[in-house]
Amino acid sequence: AEEVGGGDKEVVKEYFNNSGFQRWRKIYGETDDVNRVQRDIRLGHSKTVENVMKMLNDEGSLKGITVCDAGCGTGSLAIPLAKEGAIVYASDISAAMVAEAEKQAKEQLQGDAATTLPKFEVSDLESLQGKYDTVVCLDVLIHYPQYQADKMIGHLASLASNRLILSFAPKTFYYDILKRIGELFPGPSKATRAYLHSEGDVERALRKVGWKIRKRGLTTTQFYFARLVEAIPI
Ligand code: SAM
Repeated sequence: AEEVGGGDKEVVKEYFNNSGFQRWRKIYGETDDVNRVQRDIRLGHSKTVENVMKMLNDEGSLKGITVCDAGCGTGSLAIPLAKEGAIVYASDISAAMVAEAEKQAKEQLQGDAATTLPKFEVSDLESLQGKYDTVVCLDVLIHYPQYQADKMIGHLASLASNRLILSFAPKTFYYDILKRIGELFPGPSKATRAYLHSEGDVERALRKVGWKIRKRGLTTTQFYFARLVEAIPI
């Protein structure tokens, strides 16, 4: 199979630096200029962020814990993590996204002496190095077919010493997702650019690198579907 770095990644990067940036910044923001579908996705995504925060907090305080947020978007997760005292490394393939996340983090976190601002970087997740207590990657796998997602999962696991949290659009909702939100994804045939993943495939990719799923969550709204898994080393 072809390396990640082929066509998909270039298309995704270009999209999230341009029209996708404008679109998703609105969805992830708080302004009123969103349509009904976008508002619904905003709600679903915020539930996923809430679920992740709960999964993490359930295992104890985040104070001083290192967290890598791979594909951080506008900082929807990186900012609440920093608020809880985590040491956050947040990166994204899109420079536009990273600039926006950095701006929002400064607005929301500066002046709070107890928090450390996340360290932001423009990087695709395949280039990330180092070790973090926890690695999180939310709603990124939807842009990649399974064989690329497998490699990404393996790489993300190699960066984590204790846990890896992933969210992805589950194949169970294949028909619904393509029909309902196809237009929100990059590429010439937009609907085909949203890749759904079966839970079994994700689980297999984790097993292959010696990880297993410990907790599962699911968020569904009318237009947003995300399976959440927390994996740990076997
Ligand atoms: N994780 C964020 C969240 O949940 O708020 C953003 C999710 S958004 C749907 C997908 C993000 O993944 C975009 O910001 C995009 O630029 C980023 N992305 C896509 N492919 C990537 C890759 N290979 N490496 C790093 N970031 C990537």
